[in-house]
Amino acid sequence: MSVLVTGATGFIALHVVDKLLARGYTVIGTARSEERFAPFLAEFQKKYPDGKLSFEIVPDIGADDAFDHVLQAHPEITKVLHTASPFSYGLNKPFEEAYLTPAVNGTLNILKATKKYAPQVTHFVVTSSFAAVKKVGDELYTHVHTKDSWNPMTWDNVDSETAAYVVSKISAEKAARKFLEDEKPGFSLSTVNPPLVLGPQLFDVAVNETLNTSNQYIVDIAKLTDKNGTATKISSLAVDVRDVAEFHVLPLEKEAIRNQRNFIASSNFYPGEVAAIIKKNFPQYADKVLDLDDLPKKEIKFDVSSVVEPLGGYEFISLEKSVVDTLTQYFAKYPL
Ligand code: NDP
Repeated sequence: MSVLVTGATGFIALHVVDKLLARGYTVIGTARSEERFAPFLAEFQKKYPDGKLSFEIVPDIGADDAFDHVLQAHPEITKVLHTASPFSYGLNKPFEEAYLTPAVNGTLNILKATKKYAPQVTHFVVTSSFAAVKKVGDELYTHVHTKDSWNPMTWDNVDSETAAYVVSKISAEKAARKFLEDEKPGFSLSTVNPPLVLGPQLFDVAVNETLNTSNQYIVDIAKLTDKNGTATKISSLAVDVRDVAEFHVLPLEKEAIRNQRNFIASSNFYPGEVAAIIKKNFPQYADKVLDLDDLPKKEIKFDVSSVVEPLGGYEFISLEKSVVDTLTQYFAKYPL
């Protein structure tokens, strides 16, 4: 069975490709350039000498017909996992061009190409986000978030880069759902809606001094010198990247969670708790890491039972393990 993974060099996607290869799938990944995928292809070839992995180049997912050549060249593809979407800040471009256009057009481009050139595809999974689920204002803390919750924000609410990212994810998921309703393609559509995704990079070669956007929050907390730093303001839920990867593969294999919004989370993400985890597990840095116990803990309520019960339950990796595994790998290269 051949699976197409878009944005296959990304933090989450590398874990998705890893799970697919471990389970014997043939994987075709897309990446912006050969320079981008070559180091990861080499790592995968070492890890899975018999693994079947190849790459196609898609320089910009938002450009017209961006994925047509990929689906045309690979009639063996029967599943598509669309993970590519911009998730870095400081892009120095107008918000619409940086976030909304690639997120929405990228999603529609891959859906259209699949319908047109790959009628054999049976299942399609889109990486959406808790950004598309979470309520805003006071409701963020009173509402019990489930797979049926929707963020009410629109592009008119966008006044910052983070808001532009959030609305790009809401808009891309809505565009995908509308495509399915209007075009009635022959494949199922499932989404994965994770909150802050934490955990180690699949390969050490992907560890840079600045980590991917979500893990960088943990590094920022470890490096805080001032309790008023931005990292103390984060209010979110968390989930481990290895669980997120699993929930990309599960809808291909289990009907029970197919064709639905798979909102998953392990716990709240409190900066004070993260600082305490770091101090406990990395005693060599206990004096350097700020004590943030007095920060307020505003709980975001959530219930993922409607996603995990159809699977007969699911044990999520704990926040502590995510933080420890991320920083063990990071500090080996960049000690504090
Ligand atoms: P990464 O930035 O590591 O991965 C994003 C991938 O998309 C990269 O491979 C990137 O390529 C590619 N990409 C982005 N824009 C374009 C473009 N215009 N053309 C071609 N390729 C593009 O982030 P994550 O792995 O964290 O995110 C993956 C997905 O998960 C995204 O859809 C994100 O919104 C979603 N998500 C992430 C969460 C998190 O906390 N990490 C939480 C919820 C959802 P390149 O690296 O070359 O730029």
